[in-house]
Amino acid sequence: MQDAIRHRDAQTLKRLWNELVARFDDESFYGFVAGSEAFKALSWKHIETFGQVGFGSGGWDTDFPNSVLEVLRVVFTDADDDHRGIVGGAQRLPESLWRHAPEDIVHWPAGTSLESLHGGAPRGAVTGIHRGQDGSLPDGGVTITEKWGRTTTYPAAVVTCQSWLLSARIDTDEDLFTPEMWNAIEKSHYMLSSKTFVMVDRPFWRDIDPETGRPVMSMTLTDRLPRATYLLDEGPDKPAAILLSYTWNDDALKWLPLDADERTRLMLHSLHKIYPTLDIGSHIIGQPITVSWEADPNFMGAFKNNLPGHYRYQEKLFNHFVQKDLPQHQRGIFLAGDDISFTAGWADGAVTTALNAVWGVMDHLGGSTATDNPGPGDVWDELKPIALD
Ligand SMILES: Cc1cc2nc3c(=O)[nH]c(=O)nc-3n(C[C@H](O)[C@H](O)[C@H](O)COP(=O)(O)OP(=O)(O)OC[C@H]3O[C@@H](n4cnc5c(N)ncnc54)[C@H](O)[C@@H]3O)c2cc1C
Repeated sequence: MQDAIRHRDAQTLKRLWNELVARFDDESFYGFVAGSEAFKALSWKHIETFGQVGFGSGGWDTDFPNSVLEVLRVVFTDADDDHRGIVGGAQRLPESLWRHAPEDIVHWPAGTSLESLHGGAPRGAVTGIHRGQDGSLPDGGVTITEKWGRTTTYPAAVVTCQSWLLSARIDTDEDLFTPEMWNAIEKSHYMLSSKTFVMVDRPFWRDIDPETGRPVMSMTLTDRLPRATYLLDEGPDKPAAILLSYTWNDDALKWLPLDADERTRLMLHSLHKIYPTLDIGSHIIGQPITVSWEADPNFMGAFKNNLPGHYRYQEKLFNHFVQKDLPQHQRGIFLAGDDISFTAGWADGAVTTALNAVWGVMDHLGGSTATDNPGPGDVWDELKPIALD
């Protein structure tokens, strides 16, 4: 698989992957591991330990109930490898795209940015999506209602929020999607996740313990409450940050009812048992910051992760941007982003679905791609995801 990816050999990649989808869609990660020759030769204890360590963000065991296909996608593409920190935070990326003013654009005058096209500010939160009544558009367009009442009809709309929000938080016309699509939307399975950060006076963890000759503290994986503790600094004499706890699923659920202070107290309590001579609390400055994505009404969960048997739902969501077989009244609304991606939880997959949606919008508005640069919908019959039925 990785050779095929390296050589951009889409044919081989697709042939191998299609076989795996058919073979493993019903299999959980745990079932796959427990049934493997490698682990059968060992013991359940080894499986437990393997689950405890896992990839950077936490133990593999929180992924055990998910479809093994989800894990294979991450492993094959090395999504969890070679990560880089973005100084200033990942938010810089969308903000830079928003302000980016290219000189070499064709349709808009040079120097146009998304910011200038939108009058300097994004619109308000969406509360309604309905079939429009604009007589100049063949399907009437898509009418978007914002939280404080502004209503605008557009020739097309791209939805990029968590798909549960289409029914739970946004009043969306039932008729815009087929019952099968609604089913796929509602069956999305989200990972729970929480993080708690504290700011500290300096990266004290780099101090050397005179007894061991090693740093007094390091990145920590534990089977107790915090599960994973990360240390972030930008030099010895500056304030730094500790991600006291990064958790998933059941481990995240344990934090859900607790506020930031109580979470921090318990995390320090657990870390004290691991580092009994270190007073972490005395280095903390400022207020702890905590996030539980499942408690955020604009997310309702961290990100999608398919369970065994979910491939058909994912295929439906992913395929939706090719609308030539849809009735007129279901065209012009496109889904994109993490929930539509085949590699949810990784930004690359969300970007791929955005490119698909762009192709979909272009096609909907009567445009086409250059013949020497076909878009995803142009090569669809050759490359579309395999259908299991
Ligand atoms: C805990 C966690 C860890 C992750 N780790 C990694 C990682 O290590 N590497 C990686 O590549 N990816 C990671 N990801 C995934 C990455 O964040 C996503 O792939 C990416 O953010 C998806 O982009 P998006 O635009 O599809 O959705 P989002 O970034 O989720 O954006 C959707 C936006 O829609 C907004 N919204 C919701 N409702 C409405 C409404 N009614 N009206 C208007 N706007 C609305 C939301 O506020 C949100 O800003 C992680 C995600 C989480 C939650």
